[in-house]
Amino acid sequence: MIATGAQTRYNPGMNWDMLGHEWAVQMLQQHIQRGEVRHAYLFVGPPAVGRRTLALRFARALNCLQPPSPGDDCGVCRICRQLSRMEHAAS
Ligand SMILES: [Zn+2]
Repeated sequence: MIATGAQTRYNPGMNWDMLGHEWAVQMLQQHIQRGEVRHAYLFVGPPAVGRRTLALRFARALNCLQPPSPGDDCGVCRICRQLSRMEHAAS
């Protein structure tokens, strides 16, 4: 499946297509899967390590209209496309 606008390919179970941040992705996915999403998250660290990308993937997984599985996102629904283009109020 190709995500239009997102320019990312959806790969089920592929760590949100992130390079690195495995522990963070796993923790965030588990929060969604367990219904334990906190009221706020801080994405901190040095520049250019993928903080924004990780935050956007988390936002997509939280707001996706048709998640293929809990804690994941489809990458193609209206919300996923808006978030990928930074056109959603949450982005
Ligand atoms: Zn979606």
